Amino acid sequence: MLQINQIIDIVAGSLVCHSENTIIEYLLLDSRKISIPSSSLFFAIQGVHHDGHRFIGELYHKGIRNFILEKVPQDLNLFQNCNIILVDNAVCALQQIVEFHRNAFALPVLGITGSNGKTIVKEWLTQLLSKDYNVVRSPKSYNSQIGVPLSVWEINDQHQFGIFEAGISRPGEMERLEPIIKPKLGIFTNIGPAHDEGFASREEKIKEKLLLFKHSKVIFSCADHKEIATLIKSELPDVKNITWSFKRSGDLVIKDVALEGNMIRIHAVYNKLFLNLALPFSDEASLENLMHCILVLLYLDVKPDEIQSRLNALQKVEMRLELKEGINGCYVIDDTYNNDLAGLTIALNFLDQQKQKEEKTVILSDLLETGRDESHLYAAIGDLLLSKGVKKLIGVGPTITRNADLIKVKSIFYPDTASFLSDMKTADFNEEIVLVKGARIFRFEEIVKKLQQKVHGTVFEVNLDSLSSNLNFYRSRLGHGTKIMVMVKAFAYGSGSYEVANLLQFHRVDYLAVAYADEGVALREHGVSLPVMVMNPSLSTFDKLFQYNLEPEIYSFKILKEYLEFIKANDIASKIHLKLDTGMRRLGFEEKDLKDLVGLLKSMTNIRVASVFTHLAGADEGVHDEFTQSQIEKFKIFTEHLKNELGYSFLRHALNSAGIIRFPDAQMDMVRLGIGLYGIEAGGLLQDQVQAVGTLKTIISQIKEIKKGETVGYGRKGIAERDLRIGTIAIGYADGYDRRFSNGKGKVLIQDKLCPVIGNVCMDMCMIDITETNAREGDEVVVFGKKPSLRDLSQAIGTIPYEILTSVGQRVKRVFYSE
Ligand SMILES: *Cc1c(COP(=O)(O)O)cnc(C)c1O
Repeated sequence: MLQINQIIDIVAGSLVCHSENTIIEYLLLDSRKISIPSSSLFFAIQGVHHDGHRFIGELYHKGIRNFILEKVPQDLNLFQNCNIILVDNAVCALQQIVEFHRNAFALPVLGITGSNGKTIVKEWLTQLLSKDYNVVRSPKSYNSQIGVPLSVWEINDQHQFGIFEAGISRPGEMERLEPIIKPKLGIFTNIGPAHDEGFASREEKIKEKLLLFKHSKVIFSCADHKEIATLIKSELPDVKNITWSFKRSGDLVIKDVALEGNMIRIHAVYNKLFLNLALPFSDEASLENLMHCILVLLYLDVKPDEIQSRLNALQKVEMRLELKEGINGCYVIDDTYNNDLAGLTIALNFLDQQKQKEEKTVILSDLLETGRDESHLYAAIGDLLLSKGVKKLIGVGPTITRNADLIKVKSIFYPDTASFLSDMKTADFNEEIVLVKGARIFRFEEIVKKLQQKVHGTVFEVNLDSLSSNLNFYRSRLGHGTKIMVMVKAFAYGSGSYEVANLLQFHRVDYLAVAYADEGVALREHGVSLPVMVMNPSLSTFDKLFQYNLEPEIYSFKILKEYLEFIKANDIASKIHLKLDTGMRRLGFEEKDLKDLVGLLKSMTNIRVASVFTHLAGADEGVHDEFTQSQIEKFKIFTEHLKNELGYSFLRHALNSAGIIRFPDAQMDMVRLGIGLYGIEAGGLLQDQVQAVGTLKTIISQIKEIKKGETVGYGRKGIAERDLRIGTIAIGYADGYDRRFSNGKGKVLIQDKLCPVIGNVCMDMCMIDITETNAREGDEVVVFGKKPSLRDLSQAIGTIPYEILTSVGQRVKRVFYSE
């Protein structure tokens, strides 16, 4: 918390408007995430494709009165009773403010950097230290130039220990984060290839990361990472390096590691102290992460028995926020991430982003945030729920119940989860979106189970963060001012249309396109208000188009005449989109149609051409480049004539995903993004810059031992050439697992091993050879995702990723998640 007058001094900006001296509690960088406007300060940040200044009018309207801007608003007189501070760089101003805030607190702070494991180490260490200290830490993976200040801003005078992570992608960045975090202690987790492209060498990257610790007392690290150890010594000679090692060269030496079921047992020595510890995880990454934590605990004098007892209570770090279809037309957001105010804010923003249902309900347990005065905390929650438009709260736990009168939305309270469950009637939940957010000890998974539709063994998981990242990638390729239409036809390429469309709306794309009117209607009924183009309109659906404000694509005289009739008969106005055929030979008007087309369009003044477009037949392949160029030329000539004849201009667009990458000069006014959003770079040049969005998963239903010579499945096509272990998995061609994957063409991933299909794929299941694994019944199987990729699979059966993606059956439940 700081007063705006202090902030004016700290950032040394010029004051464009000055009003009363308010107290700032919230730093707002994203105009879509307002919680309490009166005590928020908005920073207008500018990037290549983003400019926070665009939203200040809207923010003023919503009650924001404190702004840090880089440009004076044009309509300055509209901003009354405001504080507007003008600075050169809003991100720097944010950093200066939080550095000042940080300096007001003397608590010990531990900083974490390194390539992998930062977030897990931070979360685990928080759990492990929470008995001794009231710990404040970065929410999720907030570790960037912006994430770090937002995290450190959370410190208040109740906190006794801080743990913050810092990530960098280019030189110069750590220099700015160090004074904000000011760590006395540090962990350097490890070094890997992430962000190598931003640095001249690995050494340069390590040196930059080490700048975080230039004023620290102690750095904890693994001595076996030689490069890190050497550079700590040479770069930070005055900082004590305390290490752990498998190779007898550290302060904490691991003598022996053994796998015991789901645990790892280690024997180790630390300063002549013998340790025998069971770590509650069995993978290598967890071992490394936990060793850093254990080293810190030892340094802080936590005794071995106590360390073991805290390790026993350690919880897996779940940062996923899942969106699922629920009972009675509900949606359920299941958030298991830690229950503090920062976590609740993130979850409520996610709730706000998904507009499928108007009614919003929150089921919330006591917040396990000890760093604040209770009534202050629950008053803040009350305000937050109100500002996010929550209609109903179900509070579970003694503390939230005690503070019932601070909650201003309709609410009901229960002392514990069991009493809510016994009172809970599923019929009470109808056509609403329900956020379920409970601290782990409240065991809300029972509630989620009752609210969600049964999910069978096979699920299609859609990573909404990857989707956002892909959208940003394609946006980064666009010229300033080029609009973007996103194709959400075919159930958003199999990924789930409402959820994806709501996310796209949140990211402010310009247009959506669907194949049929019904798809457009469904979007409208699930909270989508963006302009929507319908590619295959028909006489029987014109009513719906009008009723739901959907804009038809017109590709032939027949459909144009029918539509004109409809417009005339109902005396209405409409926007349309004209499709030209410049070489695809599928749908669309042709060069020779220009004159008649103009004639018809001019005869009807209440029809307006919103856009004209064409589709490229071979934008993804170099061999067709000449043809593609000729399509683009034809299109430009046609649209030029059309514009002159009509006497007004319209949006012109030609590029699909591959075209955006390969023909950047032909962006014109808008592009149409399809498959790229879903993680396939169609031209194949920049595949490593997009992320897999969907993961199709199933489970092993049964395992059998097969003798050499036996056969497997229909037609006895799978022949055991040797003794085998086979698993029957719960997916078949009716779920979209193509029958062409039979007999070894398809491979699925189990425990990092690719296992081939044996025999023919059946309707609802198929068999795989799992001899090389120690898989058990019920284990998870990845059909496609990061590995095997859609591209690998489509090549194996001679098709394209589009087909496999859009074939995933409707009966396969979609689960959406964000981290
Ligand atoms: C599907 C479609 C696109 C998107 O194509 P991608 O190859 O998936 O990017 C663009 N324009 C039209 C007309 C389409 O039908």
